[in-house]
Amino acid sequence: MVEKEILKENFIQIKQRISDAAAKSHRDPADITLMAVTKKKNAEVVRNLLDLGIQYFGENYPDETLGKMDVFDQFRDQLRLCMIGHLQSRKIRIIAGHFDEYHSLDRLNTAMKLNDLLVKQDKSMPVFIELNVGEEESKSGWQCENGKPSDQLLRDLEIIRDLPCLAIRGIMSLPPFTEDGEENRCYFSELRQVFTILNENYGYQMFHLSMGTSFDYPVAIEEGATFIRIGTALTGPR
Ligand SMILES: *Cc1c(COP(=O)(O)O)cnc(C)c1O
Repeated sequence: MVEKEILKENFIQIKQRISDAAAKSHRDPADITLMAVTKKKNAEVVRNLLDLGIQYFGENYPDETLGKMDVFDQFRDQLRLCMIGHLQSRKIRIIAGHFDEYHSLDRLNTAMKLNDLLVKQDKSMPVFIELNVGEEESKSGWQCENGKPSDQLLRDLEIIRDLPCLAIRGIMSLPPFTEDGEENRCYFSELRQVFTILNENYGYQMFHLSMGTSFDYPVAIEEGATFIRIGTALTGPR
């Protein structure tokens, strides 16, 4: 269990590092949202994070999230529950029914199924498109090709753009794990390039770049992240 005081200390330290990275890159820290990643953490941790003023929560495993849905439902008016993990098709229903946003949309088929379920509920949902940088086979998402959107991505995005209940809001990515954030700077910069090209050359109106985790978020901020997804640096090891 993480003590409440430790959570608070971690939070203050992260806030400071966000400010420092923003200052370094001449950005407004208010443009950077800290998402708390609470996979494998219990409802009490979620409540303590809410007390610190955190609004965005990222979860990876739908079944595990269902186990603590009471706390998310109880405070629904002050939080946004976001799916950030890979989704098996039979779990899409859980996202449509219980989540506010889907930040790890990684294939066209999932987009269509999610849209069908949302249509029935008369509900729309913000989605982030997951890109795979670093060519890791184990990871999902559309491939990036040297800082350019691939033809496959462009084709699929056109279809997703026309789905009535999904609103494309941004790009999300999880570059290879490293303890030295500098090693991921090239990936963050590539993601920002793709983001800019999609907006400027293809008419998308994406506002967000979700990139950077516990070990590399300062570098991600310097490269333009608007969402950082923090687990261990905030709530300790899982
Ligand atoms: C677990 C996870 C995180 C958080 O990683 P930490 O290293 O604990 O900060 C962020 N994004 C995704 C997609 C994750 O699965």
